[in-house]
Order: sequence, then structure tokens, then C-alpha cells
Amino acid sequence: MADAAACRVLVVEDEENLARGLKLNFELEGYEVDVAASGRSARDFAAAHDYDAIILDVMLPDDDGFAVCQGLRHRGDTTPVLMLTACGTTDERVRGLEAGADDYMVKPFELAELLARVRSMLRRRDWEQSLRDHEPPAVFAFGRARIDFTLHEASVGDIEVKLTALEFALLRYFADNPRRVLSRNELQSEVWKLDNYPNSRMVDNFVMRLRKHFEPNPSQPRYFLSVRGLGYKFEPDRVAEPSAEASP
Ligand code: CA
Repeated sequence: MADAAACRVLVVEDEENLARGLKLNFELEGYEVDVAASGRSARDFAAAHDYDAIILDVMLPDDDGFAVCQGLRHRGDTTPVLMLTACGTTDERVRGLEAGADDYMVKPFELAELLARVRSMLRRRDWEQSLRDHEPPAVFAFGRARIDFTLHEASVGDIEVKLTALEFALLRYFADNPRRVLSRNELQSEVWKLDNYPNSRMVDNFVMRLRKHFEPNPSQPRYFLSVRGLGYKFEPDRVAEPSAEASP
């Protein structure tokens, strides 16, 4: 890939052989690679550099990958994170997504697939970049939220909301398809580009994340509605609560 030289990846993995293998393979594809063998070192690297993607193992000697990912998102770092989980239990995958990861792979994994997924993360980023460079501003508002899909900026009232690339992509799909019932399958295939993918909890988790960002009361959503047995529906036209109500 022509622009891989410009890409910088952080591999967070304490198993030396695996870390070395990942580094070597990314380098063969033209990426610049840093390796961190602990949560602490991962945080230091992420604070010091701008990465295009982070590969993050869950089991680290000093910390777990969930906490590391949560910490990044807390600081407003929206670098795409692919999490490496030790077991494929739904619980662990859901935790990863709740912590703000964009994707996950279960160990042991095929190296080729991991490389392909990282490439797809980077393609999404390039695509967003080109939208930003070439499209007129596409500002979209609902309730007290205001989204600039071109600049990749979101806010609720005066408060800036930091979204990951996938959160943006999902929000955009909702915005492009308002008031229509969208099944989990449709969302997975249109937003994640995953067909016949069994884990539909992934969609639920990302909708939960959007609710946390944008709903005045996430447990009683008024914009991102569940449609029992069918999926989700986005209702952008519901009247926002007066801001006096929203502040304590
Ligand atoms: Ca590990």
C-alpha cells in the first residue's frame, strides 16, 4: 500500500515472540512500529506519539487492556484500537467494546487477518480524511447535539464529544437513515462491512455508546430507539429538553 510509510502503529503486547512477529510483519508492510510491553508503557507511548492504529492485548503484566483503552478514550484519544482478547467469551468482547475498542480479535488469530483488519481501519481513516479535504461542511443537528461529519466534530450544547471512527460511522448511518427501522444485520454489514457476522451484541454496544454520548437520559432514549425484535430506529426530530432541565 502506497501510503503505509506514513502510518505508525503501536503494538501493546508482553509476549515477546508475538510482539516481535507483529512488529516484523507490520514493518514488512511499510509501517513504523513501536512496541510496548506493559500498560504503563502503552500509555507513555500513546501520549508521546500520534498513532494511526493501536493493537492492544488484554492481558498485560501491570494492567489490563480494558483499562488502557478506557484511559485513552478518557483523554479524548480516538485512535482506532484493535483489542486482542484471550478468550472469545461474549463477556470479554463486550467489555472491550465498552472500553472503547473499535474491533477485537480472539487469540490465537491469523496474522493475515489481523493485518487486513488494520488495513481496513486505516482505509476508513483515509476515506474520512478525503471527505474532510473535499466535501463541503456537512453539519447535522438533532436535539442539543451538533455533528460536523466533515470535520469529524461533535458536541452537545457547549460540550465537545469525542467519538471514535466507528462511532462516527454508525452515527452517520443513522443520520442518513432517519425514522427507519435498521436491523442489527444491516448495521453490521453497512457500518462494519461485516456480513453474516454472528456477534450482534457489537451493534448493541455501539448504540449504547452513542446513547451515553447524546441522550439526556441514556436509559430512556428518545433519539436512538430500540425496536423490539427488529433493531434500532433513529428519531432526530424529537424536541430537545429545554437546557434548564438538563443542567442540575
Ligand atoms: Ca499478554
